[in-house]
Amino acid sequence: MKIHEYQGKEILKRYGVPVPKGVPALSVGEAERAADALIAETGSETLVVKAQIHAGGRGKGGGVKVVKGLAAARETAQKILGMNLVTHQTGPGGQLVRRLLIEQGVSIARELYVGALVDRGTGRVVVMASSEGGMDIEEVAAKSPEKILKEVVDPALGLAQFQARDLAYGLGLKGDVAKQAAGFLMKLYACFVDVDASLVEINPLVVTTDGKVLALDCKMTFDDNALYRHRDIEAFRDLEEEDAAETEAKKYDLSFIKLDGNIGCMVNGAGLAMATMDIIKHFGGQPANFLDVGGGATTEKVTAAFKIITADPSVKGIFVNIFGGIMKCDTIADGIIAAVKEVGLKVPLVVRLEGTNVELGRSKLASSGLAVTTATDMADGAKKVVQSAAGGSRSGAN
Ligand code: GDP
Ligand code: MN
Repeated sequence: MKIHEYQGKEILKRYGVPVPKGVPALSVGEAERAADALIAETGSETLVVKAQIHAGGRGKGGGVKVVKGLAAARETAQKILGMNLVTHQTGPGGQLVRRLLIEQGVSIARELYVGALVDRGTGRVVVMASSEGGMDIEEVAAKSPEKILKEVVDPALGLAQFQARDLAYGLGLKGDVAKQAAGFLMKLYACFVDVDASLVEINPLVVTTDGKVLALDCKMTFDDNALYRHRDIEAFRDLEEEDAAETEAKKYDLSFIKLDGNIGCMVNGAGLAMATMDIIKHFGGQPANFLDVGGGATTEKVTAAFKIITADPSVKGIFVNIFGGIMKCDTIADGIIAAVKEVGLKVPLVVRLEGTNVELGRSKLASSGLAVTTATDMADGAKKVVQSAAGGSRSGAN
């Protein structure tokens, strides 16, 4: 699960990680009141109006503006709120801005990068730092990987003081600023572990012109499987920022991930789902999703899954690939038939069924009147669905 910058900063504050003073706002009126209060509190007219969406690159896209005075803050809030913000992370469609963060402006001497993540390679938490703050860190990693410093953390010991100091000195920081940065990293690590985050990025971490170390931005992602331990963090979920199909899938406990291709897949078992995606690609197609209905899915679950796939306008063909073990093939057939009754079927459907109750499943589909193309095996099914998706939808089918 992802959260907004302002929510991430609220969490950081609880762990003593220094952040600028700021107030979230859902309307222009709220933004104006926030700006007024910040000016009164800090005695400075410099404010930053920041779009809150679950994507980075907002600065370049025009979603982060430094302004002076109440009137300018109000005007800028009006411009950003409701705008369709396009960044390299939102994709070309952009994301509607529904929330703002109004922050005190800070005077920046240096922009740095720090982050922590669960590194699958080492099986440990890795704390990273780079002098190239404010930049796209993926680009830094690709072009000049030597500019990213890394410390692998021993889970039994936690981030050691010397590791935090090595990172701070590695960034070229000195004296009191280096000390602040090391302290910052210790607190950031404590926060990371405590909230079961999978990723925390502070980009930029800034050193202000008066020598203070602050988190100017914050991106936090959590391990969904640990959210039950953090009800307060779960409450930060913003469904408007999440993919509608993925939200629907979660309701039915389906493992669903939206992808960019045009072949909808309904499969049971994560291994078979991966193999199905591979074989679709092998025959020149692109999967539109990863969908594992699970081992013991009910008709309702299968119906929901099929409806989620058909609701995606980029889907030009559907491949149902089921190996019935605990899952019964006739349950799959019932689910598909129920879903098509409700929402219709406008694209070719290729079905490969094998295993428990396969004959019953096949006969149910055959007698349903649905235009189903049956496949003898996985390769046959993948070939057929890639072909029919490329040919577009068949006229007359419904
Ligand atoms: P992102 O583009 O989505 O990563 O948004 P950020 O929160 O990182 O903001 C983008 C950039 O805006 C930062 O890298 C800073 O250069 C600039 N910025 C943000 N807040 C301030 C501020 O208080 N003062 C100044 N001078 N610049 C700021
Ligand atoms: Mn940033």
